Amino acid sequence: MIPTEELKKVLNIAGESIVENADGTIRLVATECKECEQRVFPPTAVCPECMSENTKLIELSETGTLYSWSVVHAAPKNWTTPYIAGYVDMPEGVRIFAHMVGIDPAILSFDMPVSVCKVTMGQEPDGKPIESYSFSPIALGEN
Ligand SMILES: [Zn+2]
Repeated sequence: MIPTEELKKVLNIAGESIVENADGTIRLVATECKECEQRVFPPTAVCPECMSENTKLIELSETGTLYSWSVVHAAPKNWTTPYIAGYVDMPEGVRIFAHMVGIDPAILSFDMPVSVCKVTMGQEPDGKPIESYSFSPIALGEN
């Protein structure tokens, strides 16, 4: 199992970067600069484009497209391998890094539609599941 703090650092998990809806679905939250409209994920207090602190939180769309991915076989001690590390382009203009869990990499293709989902990445020492965001391909006919 992956150490919690290490995983949170890699995925930039913070309380305000994920919202969970009543039906169990999640959305990612980014910041949008009120000065230059630059959008950033995970949320930041300062706009990296114009250095303004005048930012607001925005909810990102449910679906994006797969920009690129790689199957990772080498990882820090205690990590489960292999895993898929991918980048997803969201309609809001944000490119998001994510670990993709429980997916056969053979089915992935460039620009394929993927939707954000919640996954269990590991377990705390007390047995509590470590949940995070991920993306999974949208099956044809869905949506
Ligand atoms: Zn800005």
